[in-house]
Amino acid sequence: MKSDSLAESLTCIDCGATYPLTYRLECERCRGLLELRYDIARLRAVGPELFSGSGLWRYAPVLPIADPAHRLTLGEGGTPLLDCPRLAGELGVRRLLLKFDGPNPTGTVKDRSSATAVAAALGFGYRATSVVSSGNAGSSVAAYSARAGLPSLIFAYERASAPKLLHMAATTTNLIIYKGVYDDLITIWDRLVEERLFFDCGASRNAYKQEGKKTLAYEIAEQTRWTPPDVVVAPVAVGETFIATARGFREMREAGWIARAPLMVAAQATRANGVARAFRDGTAITPLKIGYTVAEGLAAGDPGKKGAWVLRLLREGKGLAGDAEDDEILAAQRRLARVEGIWAGPTGVATLAVLARLLAQKQLDPAQTICAIISETGLKTEAEPPSRTAIAFDDATLRRLVIERLG
Ligand SMILES: *Cc1c(COP(=O)(O)O)cnc(C)c1O
Ligand SMILES: [Zn+2]
Repeated sequence: MKSDSLAESLTCIDCGATYPLTYRLECERCRGLLELRYDIARLRAVGPELFSGSGLWRYAPVLPIADPAHRLTLGEGGTPLLDCPRLAGELGVRRLLLKFDGPNPTGTVKDRSSATAVAAALGFGYRATSVVSSGNAGSSVAAYSARAGLPSLIFAYERASAPKLLHMAATTTNLIIYKGVYDDLITIWDRLVEERLFFDCGASRNAYKQEGKKTLAYEIAEQTRWTPPDVVVAPVAVGETFIATARGFREMREAGWIARAPLMVAAQATRANGVARAFRDGTAITPLKIGYTVAEGLAAGDPGKKGAWVLRLLREGKGLAGDAEDDEILAAQRRLARVEGIWAGPTGVATLAVLARLLAQKQLDPAQTICAIISETGLKTEAEPPSRTAIAFDDATLRRLVIERLG
């Protein structure tokens, strides 16, 4: 039976060389990154009827996993696109849509890429997976590997939040805490990938893994009945989410499903703002030596070749980039919870903090429909709990309190 996946080739983003759909992380000719290409003519001819079912694998025709037997799931994708009129009012924008990825199985956008990464690991016959993580990728890759029956070797950031560490410890048998930050380990780990001891579940090069995050664009387009927002604000650590989302919209435009692709905004934490700074200064990215940011998932000082790719997309697509300080990120977290009831983690709300800044600086038109990707749940946030001072009540004091608070 012919597979329903319309993936055709791996294509070098620098020199255009194409390769069949084998396991390959970079271009043989120029070492450029590779991206997946699809049968756009068929997308155009059939239209969104191609899709069936729910969740991430609804979009299997635009994902590179040919064999349905490899399409493992924990229920990822299909997350809500929430219209947020009260927050829009506070920010002074006409319409604000939040793509909230907190409801994913491990609470973050990472589940989209873990699903396709581990599916590809099965497809290419790998016996184990590994990833270097600040916490979210580790949780997610561990969970999907367990689901696939594969052992995983998870390297986690020493300052990862306790809930993330608990989650990783529960789902992997091999949890290793590494010294320093992501950048300190990723370069040497990336070199080890070549030895094929494990399937590369890292963000640096694996096109099959990145592809899962493209479903964000397809979901946003479908949820807006193929009239996507004018602007989409996406988080950038290494750049997978941004690149994959931008390309999803580009595919749909090439297929004639949408009239135009949204303007893409890259959002970073100021303490790890390599892409935003290079964009602002009109330069190439200079790797940053970074310390801690509350947006743990964005703590990459050297986004490598993917960062350069993000920058190229921003410059070609007339996109924008911005960053936000940790206190602005924490303020955005509190505001989102209070105003719209959405409890998201600091990494997840960095987009919102950056959006608020860009609006204040009049870099975005508030008359447009703006969508921000909120990429993680707040339930994995570690912070001081609120006061536990307890009160004992009788009839009278209880009545008085209720009237005082709600009367
Ligand atoms: C990893 C992560 C991101 C972005 O990472 P990219 O590598 O740029 O895709 C965003 N939000 C959360 C919650 C993450 O864990
Ligand atoms: Zn090349």
